[in-house]
Amino acid sequence: MTATATPRTNWAGNIAFAAPDFYRPASLAELRAVVARARQVRVLGTGHAFNDMADSPGAQVSLAGLPPEIEVDSAAGLVRVAAGLTYGDLASRLDRQRFAVRNLASLPHISVAGACATGTHGSGPANQNLSAAVTGLELVTADGDIVELNRGDDAFGGAVVHLGALGAVTRLILELVPSFEVSQRVYEDLPLDVLDDHFGEIMAGGYSVSMFTDWRAPRLTQLWIKSLAEDGTPPVTDEPWFTATPAPTARNPVPGLPAANSTAQLGEPGPWFERLPHFRPEFTPSAGDELQTEYLLPAEHAVDAVHALQRAGDRIAPMLRIGEIRTIAGDELWLSPAYRQDSVAFHFTWLPDTAAVLPVVTLIEQQLAPFGPRPHWGKIFTTPAADLHASYDRLPDFLDLARHYDPAGKFRNAYTARCLGR
Ligand SMILES: Cc1cc2nc3c(=O)[nH]c(=O)nc-3n(C[C@H](O)[C@H](O)[C@H](O)COP(=O)(O)OP(=O)(O)OC[C@H]3O[C@@H](n4cnc5c(N)ncnc54)[C@H](O)[C@@H]3O)c2cc1C
Repeated sequence: MTATATPRTNWAGNIAFAAPDFYRPASLAELRAVVARARQVRVLGTGHAFNDMADSPGAQVSLAGLPPEIEVDSAAGLVRVAAGLTYGDLASRLDRQRFAVRNLASLPHISVAGACATGTHGSGPANQNLSAAVTGLELVTADGDIVELNRGDDAFGGAVVHLGALGAVTRLILELVPSFEVSQRVYEDLPLDVLDDHFGEIMAGGYSVSMFTDWRAPRLTQLWIKSLAEDGTPPVTDEPWFTATPAPTARNPVPGLPAANSTAQLGEPGPWFERLPHFRPEFTPSAGDELQTEYLLPAEHAVDAVHALQRAGDRIAPMLRIGEIRTIAGDELWLSPAYRQDSVAFHFTWLPDTAAVLPVVTLIEQQLAPFGPRPHWGKIFTTPAADLHASYDRLPDFLDLARHYDPAGKFRNAYTARCLGR
């Protein structure tokens, strides 16, 4: 198949892809041929990463043209899904069969494969990231071979959060749960010092809880509580919650943006996939004109980390649209930012000014350093490779895996060189 060379960027527009060739195969056979023939290659999902991880010095391949198959095994509670599908596409089709995945990120627009490749997560102290639902995957490796890995295989824990460095993932098998209903309530204005004694309790106040702050004043601007409709917690009431007041109308977590872009609130129950993300599929998620950064660290340091960030509030706030705090249960995936630790995540949605944002990102890394922050692989960070190696004790094993599946380094790029030293 022939390459096209249209100029392309990531979703945020802050990365102009340098890959000279772009392919959109329509079949597995075409994909295998593209990968086998390329000297350098990298898969592009939906391009929502904020850094250059999806770029390649050679070919870039989109799997969006492969058949969008999903195959539900009701008895086993599993779905085999084409890697290029978005969670939005997958979710509505699963729900029609009365199934769900356990959790979703803030937006449904991202591809299943791209999200799992980076350890993308939602919130909830009992909810692991989206990659943790993977029980198997199929990938086309550097020479065009098809490799299948399943939970229980030695390499499996290294292959799920793979940063695109092992091959082109064509299909994933995900664990399912029965479809469920969620209701969402937004509360406003909570003094940050309430978190000193109640952080864990507030985060456990729903199935998935997000705290928002602009770091301008010592307060949470909003709390989004997504509760299982069957639990009814917190009750639909006009009573304050930890002194936060219920928002009287629907809200958008990003200041100045319309509530219509956000999923339904005010306690109205609805299907899991229409409540767990903050943003609706038919609108641009978040602000659109933005950059993002996020760090995960052990949940027990949450309150100390809040104080550390508060001390840098005067540097953070001027560059920030909004900050979000979430929790994620630990997992066993070698490169997962929640690897073997129940985590709190501090997220920053920035104004779209890379030069002005980068020094603040470094400052945040310094503020959080005592707590062992692991950056979100798909966002903007300046963490040196040495610190990443210190954070992930299975990183050497991951590099062995990469050498095994990709001995000539076809799937290497500037990002892997910078972050992994490969
Ligand atoms: C508005 C917005 C909101 C976000 N909200 C959240 C959130 O709530 N939680 C969170 O954790 N993250 C969030 N993110 C980050 C986002 O989830 C990640 O960057 C995710 O990786 C994006 O998926 P993608 O398909 O766009 O991946 P891409 O950016 O296209 O690619 C990411 C990486 O995956 C690799 N890759 C993609 N597909 C394949 C494949 N089939 N085979 C091999 N490698 C592949 C690429 O090579 C690249 O290395 C958000 C991003 C945006 C823009």
